[in-house]
Amino acid sequence: LTNDQLAQWDRDNFFHPSTHLGQFARGEAAQRIVTGGEGCHITDRDGNRLLDAFAGLYCVNVGYGRTEISDAIAKQAQELAYYHAYAGHGSEASITLAKMVMDRAPDHMARVYFGLGGSDANETNIKLVWYYNNILGRPLKKKIISRWRGYHGSGLMTGSLTGLELFHKKFDLPLSQVVHTDAPYYFRRPRAEMSEADFTAHLVGELEALIEREGADTIAAFIGEPVLGTGGIVPPPAGYWEAVQKVLEKHDILFIADEVVTGFGRLGSMFGSHHYALKPDLITIAKGLTSAYAPLSGSIVSQRMWDVLARGTDENGVLGHGWTYSAHPIGAAAGIANLELIDTLDLVGNAGRTGAYLNKVMAKALGDHRNVGEVRGEGMLCAVELVKDRDSRTFFDPAAGTGAKVVAAMLKRGVIARAMPQGDILGFAPPLCLTEAEADTIAEVTAESLREVLG
Ligand code: PLP
Repeated sequence: LTNDQLAQWDRDNFFHPSTHLGQFARGEAAQRIVTGGEGCHITDRDGNRLLDAFAGLYCVNVGYGRTEISDAIAKQAQELAYYHAYAGHGSEASITLAKMVMDRAPDHMARVYFGLGGSDANETNIKLVWYYNNILGRPLKKKIISRWRGYHGSGLMTGSLTGLELFHKKFDLPLSQVVHTDAPYYFRRPRAEMSEADFTAHLVGELEALIEREGADTIAAFIGEPVLGTGGIVPPPAGYWEAVQKVLEKHDILFIADEVVTGFGRLGSMFGSHHYALKPDLITIAKGLTSAYAPLSGSIVSQRMWDVLARGTDENGVLGHGWTYSAHPIGAAAGIANLELIDTLDLVGNAGRTGAYLNKVMAKALGDHRNVGEVRGEGMLCAVELVKDRDSRTFFDPAAGTGAKVVAAMLKRGVIARAMPQGDILGFAPPLCLTEAEADTIAEVTAESLREVLG
Protein backbone atom coordinates (compact mmCIF):
# COMPACT_ATOMS: atom_id res chain seq x y z
CA LEU A 1 0.00 0.00 0.00
CA THR A 2 1.56 3.29 -1.02
CA ASN A 3 1.09 6.60 0.75
CA ASP A 4 -0.71 7.88 -2.33
CA GLN A 5 -3.33 5.14 -2.11
CA LEU A 6 -3.89 5.66 1.60
CA ALA A 7 -4.18 9.42 1.12
CA GLN A 8 -6.80 8.87 -1.58
CA TRP A 9 -8.79 6.43 0.59
CA ASP A 10 -8.62 9.04 3.35
CA ARG A 11 -10.05 11.77 1.11
CA ASP A 12 -12.74 9.49 -0.33
CA ASN A 13 -14.00 7.71 2.80
CA PHE A 14 -13.09 9.41 6.04
CA PHE A 15 -15.30 12.21 7.43
CA HIS A 16 -12.79 14.03 9.65
CA PRO A 17 -13.88 16.07 12.68
CA SER A 18 -13.23 19.83 12.76
CA THR A 19 -12.02 19.86 9.17
CA HIS A 20 -12.77 21.91 6.03
CA LEU A 21 -14.68 19.13 4.27
CA GLY A 22 -14.58 20.49 0.73
CA GLN A 23 -10.90 21.39 0.74
CA PHE A 24 -9.96 18.07 2.30
CA ALA A 25 -11.94 16.01 -0.19
CA ARG A 26 -10.35 17.94 -3.06
CA GLY A 27 -6.86 17.39 -1.69
CA GLU A 28 -6.30 21.09 -0.95
CA ALA A 29 -6.11 20.87 2.85
CA ALA A 30 -3.44 19.53 5.18
CA GLN A 31 -3.37 15.78 5.54
CA ARG A 32 -1.10 13.79 7.80
CA ILE A 33 -1.05 10.09 8.45
CA VAL A 34 0.50 9.60 11.87
CA THR A 35 2.23 6.29 12.50
CA GLY A 36 4.11 6.47 15.79
CA GLY A 37 5.16 8.47 18.81
CA GLU A 38 7.87 8.54 21.48
CA GLY A 39 8.14 11.03 24.32
CA CYS A 40 7.22 14.47 22.96
CA HIS A 41 7.60 13.44 19.29
CA ILE A 42 5.34 11.86 16.68
CA THR A 43 6.31 10.32 13.36
CA ASP A 44 4.29 10.19 10.15
CA ARG A 45 4.12 7.97 7.07
CA ASP A 46 6.21 10.40 5.05
CA GLY A 47 9.08 9.91 7.48
CA ASN A 48 8.77 13.21 9.36
CA ARG A 49 9.58 13.36 13.07
CA LEU A 50 7.79 16.27 14.75
CA LEU A 51 8.01 17.77 18.23
CA ASP A 52 4.38 17.84 19.34
CA ALA A 53 4.10 21.06 21.33
CA PHE A 54 0.34 20.58 21.68
CA ALA A 55 0.35 16.96 23.00
CA GLY A 56 -2.24 15.93 20.39
CA LEU A 57 -5.21 18.00 21.57
CA TYR A 58 -3.56 18.83 24.90
CA CYS A 59 -4.22 15.31 26.04
CA VAL A 60 -1.10 13.12 25.79
CA ASN A 61 0.13 14.35 29.16
CA VAL A 62 2.64 11.56 29.85
CA GLY A 63 3.99 11.68 26.29
CA TYR A 64 3.85 9.05 23.55
CA GLY A 65 5.00 5.44 23.60
CA ARG A 66 4.63 4.63 27.30
CA THR A 67 4.69 0.83 27.46
CA GLU A 68 3.46 0.89 31.08
CA ILE A 69 0.09 2.04 29.71
CA SER A 70 -0.01 -0.06 26.54
CA ASP A 71 0.90 -3.17 28.58
CA ALA A 72 -1.88 -2.42 31.07
CA ILE A 73 -4.35 -2.02 28.17
CA ALA A 74 -3.25 -5.32 26.61
CA LYS A 75 -3.51 -7.16 29.92
CA GLN A 76 -6.98 -5.76 30.58
CA ALA A 77 -8.14 -6.63 27.06
CA GLN A 78 -7.04 -10.22 27.57
CA GLU A 79 -8.58 -10.60 31.03
CA LEU A 80 -11.83 -8.70 30.51
CA ALA A 81 -12.18 -6.40 27.52
CA TYR A 82 -15.67 -5.31 28.48
CA TYR A 83 -18.38 -5.46 31.01
CA HIS A 84 -20.92 -2.72 31.67
CA ALA A 85 -21.21 -0.62 34.80
CA TYR A 86 -25.01 -0.42 35.08
CA ALA A 87 -26.94 -1.55 38.15
CA GLY A 88 -23.93 -1.80 40.41
CA HIS A 89 -21.60 -3.73 38.09
CA GLY A 90 -17.95 -2.84 37.79
CA SER A 91 -14.51 -4.17 37.06
CA GLU A 92 -11.44 -4.25 39.29
CA ALA A 93 -9.96 -1.56 37.05
CA SER A 94 -12.92 0.84 37.15
CA ILE A 95 -13.30 0.58 40.94
CA THR A 96 -9.56 1.08 41.48
CA LEU A 97 -9.47 4.08 39.18
CA ALA A 98 -12.47 5.64 40.93
CA LYS A 99 -10.56 5.37 44.22
CA MET A 100 -7.42 6.87 42.65
CA VAL A 101 -9.36 9.80 41.18
CA MET A 102 -11.13 10.54 44.47
CA ASP A 103 -7.82 10.34 46.38
CA ARG A 104 -6.52 13.13 44.13
CA ALA A 105 -9.67 15.27 43.93
CA PRO A 106 -10.41 18.15 46.35
CA ASP A 107 -11.64 16.90 49.75
CA HIS A 108 -15.25 18.03 49.40
CA MET A 109 -15.86 15.82 46.36
CA ALA A 110 -17.73 12.53 46.89
CA ARG A 111 -18.02 10.30 43.79
CA VAL A 112 -16.85 10.01 40.17
CA TYR A 113 -19.10 9.04 37.23
CA PHE A 114 -17.13 7.77 34.20
CA GLY A 115 -17.91 8.63 30.56
CA LEU A 116 -15.96 8.58 27.32
CA GLY A 117 -14.90 12.12 26.42
CA GLY A 118 -15.07 15.67 27.69
CA SER A 119 -18.23 16.52 25.74
CA ASP A 120 -20.30 13.65 27.12
CA ALA A 121 -19.00 14.35 30.65
CA ASN A 122 -20.29 17.91 30.40
CA GLU A 123 -23.63 16.65 29.03
CA THR A 124 -23.80 14.44 32.14
CA ASN A 125 -23.03 17.46 34.31
CA ILE A 126 -25.90 19.48 32.89
CA LYS A 127 -28.33 16.60 33.38
CA LEU A 128 -27.17 16.17 36.98
CA VAL A 129 -27.63 19.89 37.61
CA TRP A 130 -31.19 19.78 36.23
CA TYR A 131 -32.01 16.62 38.17
CA TYR A 132 -30.60 18.23 41.33
CA ASN A 133 -32.85 21.28 41.04
CA ASN A 134 -35.89 19.16 40.25
CA ILE A 135 -35.29 17.10 43.38
CA LEU A 136 -34.96 20.32 45.36
CA GLY A 137 -38.30 21.48 43.96
CA ARG A 138 -36.86 24.30 41.85
CA PRO A 139 -38.09 23.38 38.36
CA LEU A 140 -37.42 26.86 36.93
CA LYS A 141 -33.78 27.06 38.06
CA LYS A 142 -32.27 25.53 34.90
CA LYS A 143 -30.22 28.00 32.83
CA ILE A 144 -26.47 27.59 32.60
CA ILE A 145 -24.04 30.51 32.47
CA SER A 146 -20.94 29.95 30.37
CA ARG A 147 -18.26 32.39 29.20
CA TRP A 148 -17.67 33.66 25.69
CA ARG A 149 -14.53 31.86 24.48
CA GLY A 150 -15.13 28.98 26.86
CA TYR A 151 -14.77 25.51 25.33
CA HIS A 152 -16.85 22.69 26.78
CA GLY A 153 -17.35 20.33 23.85
CA SER A 154 -19.30 20.13 20.63
CA GLY A 155 -22.50 18.27 21.51
CA LEU A 156 -25.87 20.04 21.54
CA MET A 157 -25.71 21.37 25.10
CA THR A 158 -21.92 21.38 25.31
CA GLY A 159 -21.56 23.06 21.92
CA SER A 160 -23.99 25.65 23.30
CA LEU A 161 -21.85 26.11 26.41
CA THR A 162 -18.84 26.59 24.16
CA GLY A 163 -18.55 30.30 23.44
CA LEU A 164 -16.78 30.23 20.09
CA GLU A 165 -18.42 31.30 16.87
CA LEU A 166 -17.07 28.40 14.81
CA PHE A 167 -18.95 25.90 16.97
CA HIS A 168 -22.31 27.69 16.72
CA LYS A 169 -22.45 28.96 13.15
CA LYS A 170 -25.06 27.13 11.03
CA PHE A 171 -25.71 24.58 13.80
CA ASP A 172 -28.63 26.49 15.38
CA LEU A 173 -26.61 26.85 18.59
CA PRO A 174 -26.51 27.99 21.32
CA LEU A 175 -29.69 26.41 22.70
CA SER A 176 -31.89 28.71 24.76
CA GLN A 177 -30.96 27.27 28.17
CA VAL A 178 -27.43 28.66 27.87
CA VAL A 179 -26.45 32.30 28.50
CA HIS A 180 -22.94 33.67 28.02
CA THR A 181 -20.99 36.21 30.02
CA ASP A 182 -17.71 38.00 29.23
CA ALA A 183 -14.43 36.15 28.84
CA PRO A 184 -11.85 36.80 31.59
CA TYR A 185 -9.36 37.86 28.94
CA TYR A 186 -7.22 40.68 30.30
CA PHE A 187 -5.31 41.32 27.08
CA ARG A 188 -8.64 42.05 25.36
CA ARG A 189 -10.01 44.21 28.19
CA PRO A 190 -12.30 47.01 27.02
CA ARG A 191 -9.99 49.86 28.12
CA ALA A 192 -6.20 49.67 28.10
CA GLU A 193 -5.82 51.64 31.33
CA MET A 194 -7.75 49.04 33.38
CA SER A 195 -5.65 47.18 35.97
CA GLU A 196 -6.26 43.45 36.42
CA ALA A 197 -8.24 44.26 39.57
CA ASP A 198 -10.35 46.80 37.64
CA PHE A 199 -10.98 44.24 34.93
CA THR A 200 -12.02 41.59 37.46
CA ALA A 201 -14.43 44.08 39.03
CA HIS A 202 -15.81 44.83 35.56
CA LEU A 203 -16.34 41.11 34.82
CA VAL A 204 -18.03 40.52 38.15
CA GLY A 205 -20.30 43.51 37.49
CA GLU A 206 -21.26 42.01 34.11
CA LEU A 207 -21.95 38.64 35.72
CA GLU A 208 -24.12 40.23 38.42
CA ALA A 209 -26.01 42.19 35.78
CA LEU A 210 -26.65 39.03 33.75
CA ILE A 211 -27.97 37.20 36.83
CA GLU A 212 -30.16 40.18 37.66
CA ARG A 213 -31.52 40.32 34.10
CA GLU A 214 -32.29 36.60 33.89
CA GLY A 215 -33.35 36.19 37.52
CA ALA A 216 -31.26 34.10 39.94
CA ASP A 217 -34.19 31.73 40.37
CA THR A 218 -33.80 30.70 36.69
CA ILE A 219 -30.05 30.07 36.80
CA ALA A 220 -28.82 26.65 37.85
CA ALA A 221 -25.09 26.65 37.23
CA PHE A 222 -22.00 28.43 35.98
CA ILE A 223 -19.38 26.51 33.97
CA GLY A 224 -15.80 27.61 33.43
CA GLU A 225 -12.33 26.29 32.70
CA PRO A 226 -9.82 27.31 35.42
CA VAL A 227 -7.66 28.65 32.57
CA LEU A 228 -9.52 29.43 29.31
CA GLY A 229 -8.20 26.85 26.84
CA THR A 230 -9.35 26.65 23.25
CA GLY A 231 -10.66 30.23 23.50
CA GLY A 232 -7.07 31.48 23.60
CA ILE A 233 -5.12 29.91 26.51
CA VAL A 234 -5.78 32.73 28.96
CA PRO A 235 -5.06 32.56 32.70
CA PRO A 236 -7.64 34.47 34.76
CA PRO A 237 -7.00 38.03 35.93
CA ALA A 238 -6.03 38.53 39.59
CA GLY A 239 -8.85 37.85 42.03
CA TYR A 240 -11.22 36.52 39.36
CA TRP A 241 -12.13 33.12 40.76
CA GLU A 242 -12.45 34.32 44.32
CA ALA A 243 -14.87 37.06 43.25
CA VAL A 244 -16.87 34.86 40.86
CA GLN A 245 -17.31 32.13 43.45
CA LYS A 246 -18.69 34.69 45.91
CA VAL A 247 -21.33 35.76 43.38
CA LEU A 248 -22.31 32.14 42.67
CA GLU A 249 -22.62 31.35 46.35
CA LYS A 250 -24.75 34.41 46.95
CA HIS A 251 -27.25 33.35 44.28
CA ASP A 252 -27.16 29.62 45.04
CA ILE A 253 -25.74 28.84 41.59
CA LEU A 254 -23.78 25.59 41.20
CA PHE A 255 -20.22 25.78 39.91
CA ILE A 256 -18.92 23.34 37.29
CA ALA A 257 -15.13 23.47 36.93
CA ASP A 258 -14.30 22.08 33.50
CA GLU A 259 -10.88 20.56 34.16
CA VAL A 260 -10.66 18.55 30.95
CA VAL A 261 -7.42 20.38 30.11
CA THR A 262 -6.23 21.37 33.59
CA GLY A 263 -6.97 18.11 35.43
CA PHE A 264 -4.08 15.82 36.35
CA GLY A 265 -1.20 18.22 36.34
CA ARG A 266 -1.16 20.64 33.45
CA LEU A 267 -0.97 23.76 35.64
CA GLY A 268 1.70 22.28 37.90
CA SER A 269 -1.02 21.30 40.42
CA MET A 270 -3.05 18.08 40.38
CA PHE A 271 -6.20 20.08 39.58
CA GLY A 272 -6.89 23.67 38.60
CA SER A 273 -9.27 23.60 41.58
CA HIS A 274 -6.23 23.29 43.86
CA HIS A 275 -4.29 25.85 41.84
CA TYR A 276 -6.93 28.58 42.15
CA ALA A 277 -8.64 27.49 45.41
CA LEU A 278 -11.89 26.57 43.65
CA LYS A 279 -14.74 24.82 45.41
CA PRO A 280 -16.76 23.38 42.54
CA ASP A 281 -19.88 21.23 42.77
CA LEU A 282 -18.84 19.28 39.69
CA ILE A 283 -15.42 18.76 38.07
CA THR A 284 -15.18 17.58 34.47
CA ILE A 285 -12.20 15.35 33.68
CA ALA A 286 -11.03 13.65 30.46
CA LYS A 287 -7.78 14.03 28.44
CA GLY A 288 -5.13 13.74 31.20
CA LEU A 289 -7.12 11.02 32.99
CA THR A 290 -5.71 8.45 30.55
CA SER A 291 -3.34 10.72 28.62
CA ALA A 292 -5.66 9.74 25.73
CA TYR A 293 -4.25 6.20 25.52
CA ALA A 294 -7.91 5.12 25.66
CA PRO A 295 -11.10 7.21 25.74
CA LEU A 296 -12.31 7.95 29.25
CA SER A 297 -13.81 10.97 30.99
CA GLY A 298 -15.49 11.67 34.26
CA SER A 299 -17.78 13.90 36.29
CA ILE A 300 -16.59 14.30 39.87
CA VAL A 301 -19.56 15.14 42.09
CA SER A 302 -19.43 17.06 45.38
CA GLN A 303 -20.83 15.68 48.61
CA ARG A 304 -23.57 18.32 48.62
CA MET A 305 -24.78 17.28 45.15
CA TRP A 306 -24.32 13.58 45.81
CA ASP A 307 -26.62 13.74 48.83
CA VAL A 308 -29.41 15.26 46.74
CA LEU A 309 -28.88 12.83 43.83
CA ALA A 310 -29.04 9.88 46.22
CA ARG A 311 -32.21 11.26 47.77
CA GLY A 312 -33.59 11.66 44.24
CA THR A 313 -33.26 7.95 43.55
CA ASP A 314 -34.87 7.11 46.90
CA GLU A 315 -37.85 9.14 45.73
CA ASN A 316 -37.84 8.28 42.00
CA GLY A 317 -36.00 5.01 41.50
CA VAL A 318 -32.96 4.28 39.38
CA LEU A 319 -31.08 7.24 37.85
CA GLY A 320 -31.89 6.99 34.13
CA HIS A 321 -28.50 8.03 32.83
CA GLY A 322 -25.64 5.96 31.48
CA TRP A 323 -23.62 4.93 28.43
CA THR A 324 -22.85 1.41 27.25
CA TYR A 325 -19.17 2.27 27.58
CA SER A 326 -19.33 4.13 30.93
CA ALA A 327 -16.28 3.11 32.99
CA HIS A 328 -14.96 0.91 30.16
CA PRO A 329 -12.42 -1.48 31.68
CA ILE A 330 -9.78 -0.75 29.02
CA GLY A 331 -10.04 3.00 29.61
CA ALA A 332 -9.91 2.37 33.35
CA ALA A 333 -6.79 0.20 33.03
CA ALA A 334 -5.16 2.94 30.95
CA GLY A 335 -6.16 5.50 33.60
CA ILE A 336 -4.61 3.53 36.46
CA ALA A 337 -1.27 3.06 34.65
CA ASN A 338 -1.35 6.72 33.57
CA LEU A 339 -1.97 8.14 37.07
CA GLU A 340 0.78 5.88 38.44
CA LEU A 341 3.21 7.22 35.81
CA ILE A 342 2.26 10.82 36.58
CA ASP A 343 3.25 10.15 40.20
CA THR A 344 6.42 8.11 39.64
CA LEU A 345 7.79 10.55 37.05
CA ASP A 346 6.67 13.60 39.09
CA LEU A 347 5.01 15.02 36.00
CA VAL A 348 2.93 17.48 38.00
CA GLY A 349 6.15 18.93 39.40
CA ASN A 350 7.75 18.94 35.95
CA ALA A 351 4.73 20.69 34.45
CA GLY A 352 5.23 23.48 36.99
CA ARG A 353 9.01 23.72 36.61
CA THR A 354 9.50 23.12 32.89
CA GLY A 355 6.26 24.94 32.12
CA ALA A 356 7.66 28.03 33.86
CA TYR A 357 10.89 27.57 31.91
CA LEU A 358 8.98 27.29 28.61
CA ASN A 359 7.06 30.47 29.37
CA LYS A 360 10.31 32.23 30.26
CA VAL A 361 12.20 31.27 27.09
CA MET A 362 9.16 32.03 24.92
CA ALA A 363 8.87 35.51 26.44
CA LYS A 364 12.60 36.05 25.94
CA ALA A 365 12.63 34.85 22.32
CA LEU A 366 9.42 36.60 21.25
CA GLY A 367 8.47 39.31 23.71
CA ASP A 368 10.28 42.10 21.85
CA HIS A 369 8.84 41.37 18.41
CA ARG A 370 6.62 44.24 17.26
CA ASN A 371 3.80 41.85 16.32
CA VAL A 372 3.73 40.01 19.63
CA GLY A 373 1.06 41.55 21.85
CA GLU A 374 1.48 39.15 24.72
CA VAL A 375 3.21 35.94 25.76
CA ARG A 376 1.15 34.35 28.54
CA GLY A 377 0.69 31.04 30.25
CA GLU A 378 0.42 29.01 33.40
CA GLY A 379 2.12 25.69 34.10
CA MET A 380 2.60 23.72 30.87
CA LEU A 381 0.36 26.07 28.87
CA CYS A 382 1.62 28.98 26.83
CA ALA A 383 0.15 31.30 24.20
CA VAL A 384 1.59 33.95 21.92
CA GLU A 385 -0.97 36.54 20.84
CA LEU A 386 -0.13 38.24 17.55
CA VAL A 387 -1.13 41.83 16.86
CA LYS A 388 -0.83 44.20 13.95
CA ASP A 389 0.09 47.00 16.33
CA ARG A 390 1.15 46.62 19.93
CA ASP A 391 0.37 50.04 21.30
CA SER A 392 -3.20 50.22 20.06
CA ARG A 393 -3.80 46.43 20.43
CA THR A 394 -5.02 46.29 16.82
CA PHE A 395 -5.45 42.78 15.44
CA PHE A 396 -4.74 41.41 11.97
CA ASP A 397 -7.63 40.83 9.58
CA PRO A 398 -8.74 37.28 10.54
CA ALA A 399 -9.07 36.41 6.84
CA ALA A 400 -5.29 36.75 6.45
CA GLY A 401 -4.78 33.70 8.69
CA THR A 402 -1.61 35.11 10.20
CA GLY A 403 -1.52 32.71 13.14
CA ALA A 404 -2.08 29.72 10.85
CA LYS A 405 0.78 30.88 8.62
CA VAL A 406 3.19 30.99 11.55
CA VAL A 407 2.05 27.54 12.66
CA ALA A 408 2.63 26.24 9.10
CA ALA A 409 6.12 27.75 9.09
CA MET A 410 6.81 26.00 12.42
CA LEU A 411 5.67 22.69 11.01
CA LYS A 412 8.27 22.98 8.23
CA ARG A 413 10.84 23.27 11.03
CA GLY A 414 9.50 20.19 12.81
CA VAL A 415 7.41 21.69 15.63
CA ILE A 416 3.63 21.34 16.03
CA ALA A 417 1.88 24.33 17.62
CA ARG A 418 -1.85 25.06 17.36
CA ALA A 419 -3.40 28.07 15.65
CA MET A 420 -6.21 28.70 18.14
CA PRO A 421 -9.62 28.99 16.44
CA GLN A 422 -10.56 32.59 17.34
CA GLY A 423 -7.81 35.21 16.97
CA ASP A 424 -4.20 35.00 15.81
CA ILE A 425 -3.04 33.07 18.81
CA LEU A 426 -0.29 30.45 18.81
CA GLY A 427 -1.07 27.78 21.38
CA PHE A 428 1.38 25.52 23.22
CA ALA A 429 0.46 22.66 25.55
CA PRO A 430 3.24 20.08 25.30
CA PRO A 431 3.33 16.75 27.13
CA LEU A 432 4.09 17.26 30.82
CA CYS A 433 7.39 15.38 30.37
CA LEU A 434 8.86 18.18 28.22
CA THR A 435 12.57 18.83 28.79
CA GLU A 436 14.27 22.22 28.91
CA ALA A 437 16.12 21.39 25.67
CA GLU A 438 12.77 20.72 23.97
CA ALA A 439 11.39 23.99 25.39
CA ASP A 440 14.40 25.80 23.90
CA THR A 441 13.66 24.23 20.50
CA ILE A 442 10.03 25.34 20.66
CA ALA A 443 11.04 28.93 21.47
CA GLU A 444 13.73 29.08 18.75
CA VAL A 445 11.45 27.62 16.08
CA THR A 446 8.57 29.94 17.03
CA ALA A 447 10.84 32.99 16.81
CA GLU A 448 12.35 31.95 13.45
CA SER A 449 8.92 31.17 12.01
CA LEU A 450 7.49 34.46 13.22
CA ARG A 451 10.34 36.30 11.50
CA GLU A 452 9.78 34.32 8.30
CA VAL A 453 6.08 35.28 8.19
CA LEU A 454 6.13 38.78 9.65
CA GLY A 455 9.72 39.95 9.24
N1 PLP B 1 -13.85 20.73 27.94
C1 PLP B 1 -12.69 21.29 27.65
C2 PLP B 1 -12.12 22.32 28.59
C3 PLP B 1 -11.98 20.91 26.51
O1 PLP B 1 -10.81 21.50 26.21
C4 PLP B 1 -12.53 19.91 25.68
C5 PLP B 1 -11.81 19.47 24.47
O2 PLP B 1 -10.85 20.06 24.05
C6 PLP B 1 -13.77 19.38 26.01
C7 PLP B 1 -14.40 19.79 27.16
C8 PLP B 1 -14.43 18.37 25.14
O3 PLP B 1 -13.78 17.18 25.22
P1 PLP B 1 -13.94 16.08 24.06
O4 PLP B 1 -13.32 16.65 22.85
O5 PLP B 1 -13.21 14.89 24.64
O6 PLP B 1 -15.38 15.81 23.90
